[in-house]
Amino acid sequence: MSVVLGMPTPRRTGASAARGATPVPLPSDRPAASALIDRFGREATDLRISLTDRCNLRCTYCMPAEGLPFLAPPALMSLDEITRLARIAVTEFGVRQVRFTGGEPLLRKDLVEIIRSVASLDPRPEISLTTNAIGLSSRAEALAEAGLDRINVSLDSIHPETFAEITRRPFLDRVLAGIDAVRAAGLRSTKINAVLMPGINDHQGVELLEWALAGGHQLRFIEQMPLDADHSWARESMITAAEIRERLAERYLLTPDDAPRDGAPAELFRCASDRPAATARYSGSSASSRR
Ligand code: SF4
Repeated sequence: MSVVLGMPTPRRTGASAARGATPVPLPSDRPAASALIDRFGREATDLRISLTDRCNLRCTYCMPAEGLPFLAPPALMSLDEITRLARIAVTEFGVRQVRFTGGEPLLRKDLVEIIRSVASLDPRPEISLTTNAIGLSSRAEALAEAGLDRINVSLDSIHPETFAEITRRPFLDRVLAGIDAVRAAGLRSTKINAVLMPGINDHQGVELLEWALAGGHQLRFIEQMPLDADHSWARESMITAAEIRERLAERYLLTPDDAPRDGAPAELFRCASDRPAATARYSGSSASSRR
């Protein structure tokens, strides 16, 4: 089975199209427009803003057990600076979606104010949050009221022991409570980002997908990136997108979804099990980071 996941198709423009076989577009191929268009013709309409480098988990593939030398609070962008950056992006460069990430963005005490401020911009961007969901149960409603549109939750296992092994923290129940709160707050369906690792949770992919389908979540598997916090990453210690798809296909019929991806790196699949009621989307991705 051959599966292609990931990069958008390069688009030739202007001079390079006329030359036909030129393998790499030149800077002169870049269209004269204020939008963020690279020389391959790809338009960037998403802005990711990391609100903090701190996190309350210690995922083994992200940072060492003792944490990192985190930035001092004055070094982080303030509410005003974040709003100004987002305003320039949406009014000058055609950015249509602002995503807040971390570290763990819920650790910002002023997160509700940040979202309210960015939601007041004209044109208003779509606002999303990538989070580990710890603490979300008490803040989901306020975030939704402030203007948050959607949430991506990083979750690699629904087994408490496996979750604790990966994150070095026993907080699975808090994560699940946060995901439940998203629905109660009336936000759009949650997307779940998961990384599978050999010998740790690679045998739980189907179960994770079943859980996501039952909850109405879109699941996105992401290939592990060599962030290498512990200097132990090896090519053979990662599960590829193709391998994940093969394992899921043993249980589910996966059908490519041709819906426009708007430049997103993940390929979408609809999946149907032998139970007719369970039909939903699995989103496979070779994106390098779940943040
Ligand atoms: S992967 Fe995300 S949740 Fe895990 S330690 Fe890194 S920032 Fe925190």
